[in-house]
Amino acid sequence: MNKAKRLEILTRLRDANPHPTTELNFSSPFELLVAVTLSAQATDVSVNKATDKLFPVANTPEAIYALGVDGLKDYIKTIGLFNSKAQNVHKLCQILIEQHNSEVPESREALEALPGVGRKTANVVLNTAFGWPTIAVDTHIYRVSNRTKFAMGKNVDKVEEKLLKVVPKEFKVDVHHWLILHGRYTCLARKPRCGSCIIEDLCEYKDKIDD
Ligand code: SF4
Repeated sequence: MNKAKRLEILTRLRDANPHPTTELNFSSPFELLVAVTLSAQATDVSVNKATDKLFPVANTPEAIYALGVDGLKDYIKTIGLFNSKAQNVHKLCQILIEQHNSEVPESREALEALPGVGRKTANVVLNTAFGWPTIAVDTHIYRVSNRTKFAMGKNVDKVEEKLLKVVPKEFKVDVHHWLILHGRYTCLARKPRCGSCIIEDLCEYKDKIDD
């Protein structure tokens, strides 16, 4: 895909949604970190259902740590992999208290050292809580980037690398959300909605579907 097409795609996505954000509910960097950690292999809707009950009761490292692993499980047991997630989040709270003054560190290295936090989660937190121009590549972004030929790569790291290279600076902070939302609601995995896609004429996917 050439530069002009990429620019037009980004411009259209921006015009359609000038201030995109995550669909996870959060009101602080700590809540976002917990929500993103819980969202691995789970839907944002299922995470929001759990955190809508958890955060009013406990939304600080101290409060979640005080719940204990079993207490935390009671709130998140509707989310997939809740056993390991409860252990990770509990431990993560302990580390934030002991090593980071109960704050979420604005550092990739420190974030990735937390249990249950990988590159993707760190990218989301750095981007959405702190405004860094990081691009977290999830399944939606991976699919949309390859399908459209916007930024092709054999794995998520390669796609991230390519996106960081080809997306102009002014679009970098928001491109993560535009591509996720596009993949979630329009460029669906099994049946993309090409007929109602605002970038249909620019997308280079060969098997577009009319409806
Ligand atoms: S035209 Fe179809 S395949 Fe291309 S981005 Fe739109 S929905 Fe996805």
